[in-house]
Amino acid sequence: MLRPRSRLAAGLAAGLAAGLAAGLALAAAGTGPAAAAPRTGTPDGDGWKVGVFGQRRVQAPAHGGFSRVIYMNDCRPGGCIVVPGTDDSRTNRSSIPQQTSQLDAWPHGDAAWAALVRCVRETYAPFDVQIVTEDPGQASHFEVFVGGDPEDIQLEGALGVAPFVPCGGIIDNVPTFVFANLTDQTDVLCWAVAQETAHAFGLDHVLLRDDPMTYLVPPYRKRFQNQAGACGEELAAPRECWCGGDTQNSYTFLTATFGASELPAPGVTITTPHAGAWVRGGFPVQVALDTLLEMQEVALAVDGTTVTALTAPPFAFNGPADLAPGPHAVRVRAIDQRGLEGEASVAVLALAACGADGACAAGHHCLGGACVPGASAPGGLGATCATGADCGSGQCTATVDDGAACTLPCDDGRRCPGGYACIGDGAGLCWPGGDSGGCGAARGGRGLGDLTLALGLGLGLGAPGLRRPRRRAARA
Ligand SMILES: [Zn+2]
Repeated sequence: MLRPRSRLAAGLAAGLAAGLAAGLALAAAGTGPAAAAPRTGTPDGDGWKVGVFGQRRVQAPAHGGFSRVIYMNDCRPGGCIVVPGTDDSRTNRSSIPQQTSQLDAWPHGDAAWAALVRCVRETYAPFDVQIVTEDPGQASHFEVFVGGDPEDIQLEGALGVAPFVPCGGIIDNVPTFVFANLTDQTDVLCWAVAQETAHAFGLDHVLLRDDPMTYLVPPYRKRFQNQAGACGEELAAPRECWCGGDTQNSYTFLTATFGASELPAPGVTITTPHAGAWVRGGFPVQVALDTLLEMQEVALAVDGTTVTALTAPPFAFNGPADLAPGPHAVRVRAIDQRGLEGEASVAVLALAACGADGACAAGHHCLGGACVPGASAPGGLGATCATGADCGSGQCTATVDDGAACTLPCDDGRRCPGGYACIGDGAGLCWPGGDSGGCGAARGGRGLGDLTLALGLGLGLGAPGLRRPRRRAARA
């Protein structure tokens, strides 16, 4: 029923639920006096559709015979000239415009373009398809023009458009369009680029709100879902898929068409806590994942026991609330959508609480209510350090005259354990040597007024900045 009546498929009412309100209008991006002002919009807010109808084939042909390259053309700086005719990306011919047309250039600048390209690469990452931004010239390639307004090619009311693709096989070199003047929202543009380019391969619309082939929102961030979804545009009106059947699985379709990508297993780095860090119950765990793919699961385990397993970002955790004093192994394991695993571990130390009257085991000192290892332990309070990562406290403080040492803030009243002095301004830091005894006297009898300290709080970032000025009197 919802079938295109012409080679350019008819647009379909999106029927989108109310989501984000239309955003503020943006100023023209300085692409010349003729440039239309780009808008900050979403399909439900602004009343345009994400794209118009494409179709799918019943079966993908065997690999080969068509390109695995999608050229994202930003039409900068001067816009793109598109000539009406048989679809051919190599010669900028398209079946969609009725006359030779100029599409305005991408209006949102370099950073937004890079973000869009990154998003499209992530979206197609599971498949053996390359997203390029340099014109492949006469080499076979699919192409999406990203710029201008639908009116530039005699359309209206759609963020994107793809030509009719017959069932039964992929036609190479098919160009599609996304009209970037309509919105600056990366996720929305990325969704449209994915939908239009995939229409050119033969994918239909589905009623899966996380898949780019849908009209449904939210969310605006879409990735191809390895899940069969009913074909259609509105939840209330599922329909037969264009090339037959009631459902479509975009993911298996693209895998069957292009083959799976050969990306490595996800790279996992635990950024917090650092190796050797002192932790307490509920300590935060942060992770950096090096991958273009979606994660199936990212899980935190402590001492081999899973604490939390997350299936969607953000992948940030807290350690167990109850943590016995002593060493612990923190491990994060990531499983991507293909089932490939990556993991990382760090060893941390949970500090014991101080006993009555601040009692701690030998070699430890009571500070901040916890028994911290002293300067003789690697990374202990007062141990020599180069960066925060060298210190259990994560804090390496540099001075001009006295080198750098692992520090922690003094207790209230500028108190430090025996063998340490509270130095610096404000709450101060416990520094090896001397004994502040709460009186504020620094090592060697220096007054606090002499000291300006730098806090090296960042892990691995060194301890720049705070330097104790040399005392003029001492040099004179
Ligand atoms: Zn569409």
